[in-house]
Amino acid sequence: MPKLKRDIVKYVRDRAKSRYEKDSECKICGATERLDFHHYYSMTLLLNKWLQDNDLNPQYIQSLRDDFIEEHEPELFEYTVTLCHPHHLALHKVYGKEPPLVTAKKQMRWVQIQREKHGLVS
Ligand SMILES: [Zn+2]
Ligand SMILES: [Zn+2]
Repeated sequence: MPKLKRDIVKYVRDRAKSRYEKDSECKICGATERLDFHHYYSMTLLLNKWLQDNDLNPQYIQSLRDDFIEEHEPELFEYTVTLCHPHHLALHKVYGKEPPLVTAKKQMRWVQIQREKHGLVS
């Protein structure tokens, strides 16, 4: 199988990112600078799982990506959070660079707990 020039998830990100609704402040501390957009469901893991489950060839990602995006709208656009860079790093320090999909709810709870610690009660 010919190798793609870059990580295939980037093809999906390129297509999806214009629809990301980044907040104007960190969900945990309210910072307004150096903001990152975090997916509770890792896009890389979701994409790999989808390709595998549907027996699809990653080589065709450019023609497949719209289907992937359509089938994963909640994970791509709703189960997301805006965090300042330090809090984004902190989350990944706890859950890893590529947090397993099963940790999504735990990550959400972690963010909520950190938020309460900062006095930002929902
Ligand atoms: Zn923060
Ligand atoms: Zn992240």
